[in-house]
Amino acid sequence: MCAEPLLAVLIGPGGVGKGTIARRLTELDPRLWLSRSWTTRNKRETETGDEYVFVDRETFERAIDEGRFLEWAQFQGNLYGTPVPTGTGGADVLLEIEVQGAEQVRRHYDDVVIFLVIPPSMDHLESRLRGRGDTEDHVQRRLHSTANEMRVGQELATHVIVNDDVERATNEILSILETLRRDRRTLA
Ligand code: 5GP
Repeated sequence: MCAEPLLAVLIGPGGVGKGTIARRLTELDPRLWLSRSWTTRNKRETETGDEYVFVDRETFERAIDEGRFLEWAQFQGNLYGTPVPTGTGGADVLLEIEVQGAEQVRRHYDDVVIFLVIPPSMDHLESRLRGRGDTEDHVQRRLHSTANEMRVGQELATHVIVNDDVERATNEILSILETLRRDRRTLA
């Protein structure tokens, strides 16, 4: 029997490796469809341009007015938003977003599955943030917002995943998703 697609969200502090886990999840599980967000932030030197739809603020605000986002939030001076998913072909939808966006999603979808990804240690997180090519000022701001993201994240999360190893963390999430799918098929 066919069950409704799952909506899964990855949250967690900047630099924790959510993006890498999200990509790995979709490589390993063809039933997952990863949403591509819009942002008004500038592309980093380390980015190829596929990470986001990079737009100016005016374009983003017009899309908000047109109701084109499932959720959106301002984070560290830039806007980020998830377009309303289309063309998913019935796949389970995966979002990789920050906590304000996850709060909005949860308000609208009771049965959303929220994975809080946490680092094995704060030292680990700091060195990852420094390795991404951001300015020192940006690194400091991200470290300051970490405590809030962890606190709100703990309240929102249905599952907490320690990213001590990308493959292990990815497989832990995949196994949780598989159990949820099985339960939904049984109930459908
Ligand atoms: P970054 O600038 O480091 O790529 O992302 C900053 C934060 O924005 C990250 O926590 C990332 O998960 C989050 N983010 C990325 N896309 C979206 C989105 O569509 N909506 C929301 N609310 N947050 C997003």
